[in-house]
Amino acid sequence: MSSKPSLSLIGGGLVGSLLAQQLARRGFSVDVFEKRPDPRMAGFAGGRSINLALAERGLQALRSAGLAEEVLQRAVMMRGRMVHTPDGRSGLQRYGVDDSEVIWSVSRGGLNMWLLDAAESAGARFHFGQGLVAADFDAGRMRLVDAGGTERVFDAPVLIGADGAGSTLRSAMNAYRALGERVEWLGHGYKELEIPPASELSPELLEHGGGHDQFAIEPNALHIWPRGGYMCIALPNTAGSFTVTLFLPAQGPYPSFATLPDARAAETFFRHDFADLLPLLPRFGTDYDTHPVGTLATLYLERWHLDGRALLVGDAAHAIVPFHGQGMNCGFEDTVSLARLLDGNDPAEAFAEFQRLRQPNADAIAAMALENYVEMRDSVADPRYLAKRELGAR
Ligand code: FAD
Repeated sequence: MSSKPSLSLIGGGLVGSLLAQQLARRGFSVDVFEKRPDPRMAGFAGGRSINLALAERGLQALRSAGLAEEVLQRAVMMRGRMVHTPDGRSGLQRYGVDDSEVIWSVSRGGLNMWLLDAAESAGARFHFGQGLVAADFDAGRMRLVDAGGTERVFDAPVLIGADGAGSTLRSAMNAYRALGERVEWLGHGYKELEIPPASELSPELLEHGGGHDQFAIEPNALHIWPRGGYMCIALPNTAGSFTVTLFLPAQGPYPSFATLPDARAAETFFRHDFADLLPLLPRFGTDYDTHPVGTLATLYLERWHLDGRALLVGDAAHAIVPFHGQGMNCGFEDTVSLARLLDGNDPAEAFAEFQRLRQPNADAIAAMALENYVEMRDSVADPRYLAKRELGAR
């Protein structure tokens, strides 16, 4: 019989599924409880193409899990930032001197599904449609609810929360023993739009007369339209589309999401501020009116664990704003560190050491992500910036 503890993971998202794969590979008995249905059966988040920037720290974690090659085959290389100025010009600011220093655009839904497959192949058991409701840390039990509202109690002496920024496990831990939680809201929100593949646009709109095959604009770049207090960005998808994200103050004077409540108002704003981008967004009206405004915040915790009984990882422990494109990358690093520490140590020691090692990194990345928002929206178009070279994810 194995002397390794049985582990219950809450959340089968990006971090939960990669962690499950690594723990199962090391011989742990791993059960993952995910509140949503299996995306491989149900389709992912309404079928929209949402992508993420995968950078070296995330890739390194995928390499150590033996998954990097598979993911890179389905990713689009981004060599640098393509900055689009208000007068319609654009220029590439490379991340490095050559293609050894690049980042990658990868489908969020696709990546999650490949990681679920990999974790199951390694022996992890997934229980979909099972959301954590409450945890009794003294009894080592948790309560879960299924899609039909039926609640059940399970034994779970060692719980690991990979249940994201709004973590239920974190709330339960915090109620049992204060974690020193602090949330700093950015005050800016975001909305996702889409540039479709070139075949869906009229040829005269295409950059270089459509010389990018199925892409309307340069595929191998992270596009930024910096406009001072706000910006749009676009990341390529393998099928030829781009996911565009508008970042804007949530409240306050024009322009803010409060002053641009619908597509009619927003179209006038785009015609003025993003004149070269708007024609590439044929579904602007529908996308703007139907896609929600997301909120952004940084989460700081003094404690990530309750001795050896519960631990938080990924966004559940250290959610950050997305401007360095490092939330998932940082969460992936967590998984490598935790799997190594748990192998051969008792959970209480492993969890304490995990926090000691990972928290300074998470804090540093949180600060860099906040700084990078100012950098991206304000100064990225400044010619003096071109002299500087940095290799962040974005
Ligand atoms: P999540 O991805 O949130 O997954 C949590 C999982 O837990 C979900 O599957 C959820 O259904 C499940 N769950 C929640 N509650 C329960 C419950 N009670 N019971 C059971 N299951 C539950 N990061 C990057 O590295 N690069 C980027 O380019 C990037 N871009 C971003 C852009 C935006 C607009 C945003 C908002 C974030 C971006 N991030 C990026 C950050 C990245 O999305 C997160 O860091 C990453 O998703 C964290 O993964 P996670 O598994 O910890 O949490």
